[in-house]
Amino acid sequence: MPRLTLHNAFQLIPGNAIHLPRPGNPNGCERWKVSGQVKTWKKNPGRIRVPLKHGLRHYSAINETDFDSQGNATYPFKDSEIVKPGMPCSYCGMEH
Ligand SMILES: [Zn+2]
Repeated sequence: MPRLTLHNAFQLIPGNAIHLPRPGNPNGCERWKVSGQVKTWKKNPGRIRVPLKHGLRHYSAINETDFDSQGNATYPFKDSEIVKPGMPCSYCGMEH
């Protein structure tokens, strides 16, 4: 259950999930799935794009501007967790 950081974002694969803590949400987290390959650029190694899907028709992406100078995710992804099978979310307990 690692936090989402710029470093960790490069390790994401399709099917991994990103959980955004949502205090007061009855489901605990807003859950996004990595919906495709993480895109990187050889000539610009700091650049990244992680495609995301939420529910049936909500799409978004994480890119390098979603992290601060320490590599920590910023709003709206602040304090988000990377969730993979066998690594349940520490907020909601789900593995997907
Ligand atoms: Zn969660």
